[in-house]
Amino acid sequence: MNDYSEHIAIIGGGIAGLSLGCFLLRKDIQPIIFERSSQIREGGAGISISPNAINLLDKINLKESLSNEGFFPEKINFLDEDQPITSIDSRVCCISREKLVTILYKKFIELGGRIIFDHEYVSFDSDNKILNFKNDQSYKVLHLAACDGIKSKIRDDFFDTGKPVYSGYSAWRCIGHNPQKDAYLQLSSNKHLVLYPITNSLSSFVGCIKTTKENNESWIAEGSIDELVQDIGFMSENHKETVHSSNKFFRWGIYTRPLLKKYFAKNISLFGDAAHPIVPFLGQGGCLAIEDGYSFAKLLSDIGNLEDTQNRYERIRKPRVKMITRLSKEQALHNHISNPLLKKTRNFLMSKTPIIDKQMDRIYKFNL
Ligand SMILES: Cc1cc2nc3c(=O)[nH]c(=O)nc-3n(C[C@H](O)[C@H](O)[C@H](O)COP(=O)(O)OP(=O)(O)OC[C@H]3O[C@@H](n4cnc5c(N)ncnc54)[C@H](O)[C@@H]3O)c2cc1C
Repeated sequence: MNDYSEHIAIIGGGIAGLSLGCFLLRKDIQPIIFERSSQIREGGAGISISPNAINLLDKINLKESLSNEGFFPEKINFLDEDQPITSIDSRVCCISREKLVTILYKKFIELGGRIIFDHEYVSFDSDNKILNFKNDQSYKVLHLAACDGIKSKIRDDFFDTGKPVYSGYSAWRCIGHNPQKDAYLQLSSNKHLVLYPITNSLSSFVGCIKTTKENNESWIAEGSIDELVQDIGFMSENHKETVHSSNKFFRWGIYTRPLLKKYFAKNISLFGDAAHPIVPFLGQGGCLAIEDGYSFAKLLSDIGNLEDTQNRYERIRKPRVKMITRLSKEQALHNHISNPLLKKTRNFLMSKTPIIDKQMDRIYKFNL
């Protein structure tokens, strides 16, 4: 039996697990991360990180790394098909998922953290606080932090919440050579296309469609450029250039789970997609995962005991997650309007009122 009885055991070395690990170490609380893969890996897509999360990453001095490894677009341009609607100043950082996770991993190691790879969680004896892995290793721990993503086995084992369900949306994603200064969001009936720079020379393309066609075995399947074009089409030369210079195309089925009533059970707490997988139309899933880790670590440091921390954590996170879940779902409906009159109204509101900035202010404001 391996003794980590003074450590918070984090299952999953993704955005949620690594952020939580860093924020705990910042407060001199000992975490240990168990990851089923043999190394940190993420691929094939970009991610946008908004100020609510950037400001928290800045507390562990990662803003400079975000600037160095990612890209802060100057403007976000909104278009109806290829017709400009409006343009606003951008406040987000766009970066490849791989680089974001690598930055978090390096910070975690620099702060003195330990991550144990090739450890796939299989069960937890919560009375005796013993964690068991597929490779027959067992560890005595202090607390279990579930950061094991949307298909969380810990959530299935301890929270009666039903399986993930297909949202009705799928996304094509790829990264190609196409230097850009701005981000573009192009809206159309039943689909929208996003293009944003993730370095000085690379751009990330995301095409979201409403479709009943679920992916069968894998939620993330590699596809061909022909399938992408058939599903999505292009709306600009920029899209064409980016997609044609890419060599890997991924189709992501977008799944969600019902909102949780409880974020904890006994000595187990949930974070990131394990707690609240949402549709990605406001780019907030990863940002919420970072907020979760920051909140839990700060509360634990301030309060000093785990039970009260779990209660406060749940009370603070639930309303915010509920609000962003709702706004994200509504965003898809706004993006995909097909009725010409409604389209006209949407475009008018976007161009002639501060509706976009107001919504962003609401989401980007996070204090604890
Ligand atoms: C198309 C699309 C676009 C998106 N765009 C954005 C965006 O622009 N901005 C944004 O903020 N968010 C975005 N998101 C959401 C974001 O990707 C997720 O919210 C985020 O990755 C969740 O991180 P996580 O660490 O909770 O889960 P994951 O990234 O799924 O990580 C889970 C980790 O746990 C490990 N694991 C799983 N099971 C076990 C086990 N049994 N034992 C040990 N380890 C295990 C996995 O290997 C993995 O490393 C997008 C999502 C999609 C689908």
